[in-house]
Amino acid sequence: GLLIENISMRFDLPNGTSIQALKDVSLNIKEGELMSVLGPSGCGKTTLLNIIAGFLAPTEGQVVLNGHTVTGPDAERGMVFQQGALFEWMSVRENVDFGPRMKGLPRSERNETVEHLLEVVGLGDFKDKAVYELSGGMQQRVALARCLANDPDVILMDEPLGALDALTREKMQGLVLKLWKETGKTVILITHSVEEAILLGERLLVLAPRPGRIHKEYQLPYAEMGV
Ligand code: ADP
Ligand code: ADP
Repeated sequence: GLLIENISMRFDLPNGTSIQALKDVSLNIKEGELMSVLGPSGCGKTTLLNIIAGFLAPTEGQVVLNGHTVTGPDAERGMVFQQGALFEWMSVRENVDFGPRMKGLPRSERNETVEHLLEVVGLGDFKDKAVYELSGGMQQRVALARCLANDPDVILMDEPLGALDALTREKMQGLVLKLWKETGKTVILITHSVEEAILLGERLLVLAPRPGRIHKEYQLPYAEMGV
């Protein structure tokens, strides 16, 4: 499981002032759970995700994944960003293969994984296209496949569908749900859309305005029902 224990985050600015972004956030996220996170702009959602990822060290508290305290980024946690995190000049296939190649896995094994994932996200016919040639929705499919190729235990999504038009977004919500169900991975999904948070989440976390504290938590039936 994933334990978030009394996380507080204060950013000290060069001018001597500071910003308290998070205040005493504690969560116990079960393996395989999909938790969506809502909260007003600036309440610390991205900061929380970056702390869980290990990109940022919290001022107080700790993140414990599978019994180990998180001290930096590693392949146990994968990130999917809103946009712009892909290698645009590389092909779809090369993007998805990037993590496995860095790990030094043999080509035959990697090819199998990459081919499979590209089919799963519906990009089987676009393997050799460069990422910049693709639509926004297709690029986010690449981002999902690239994340899964690293086989993380926890997938952290920072508004992955936020830049998409409504119709594409709806299709992609279905894909996120499908991937979550098929892989059984723990997913934390930040979104600005109440509808998306409710549709996709099993559990919904609402953060209060800055400094972000837990405002409310809800258990939701929808994702479980396969809406
Ligand atoms: P959200 O994702 O909910 O919009 P963020 O986590 O991005 O909120 O930011 C929370 C607060 O912390 C904001 O006031 C933001 O300006 C501040 N903040 C975030 N990152 C930094 C940073 N690296 N340095 C200084 N302040 C930051
Ligand atoms: P998505 O919902 O995946 O973003 P779009 O609605 O943008 O897809 O595009 C619909 C279909 O148009 C895609 O599934 C694909 O078959 C085709 N398409 C989109 N962009 C391209 C492209 N750059 N090259 C070839 N076909 C494309």
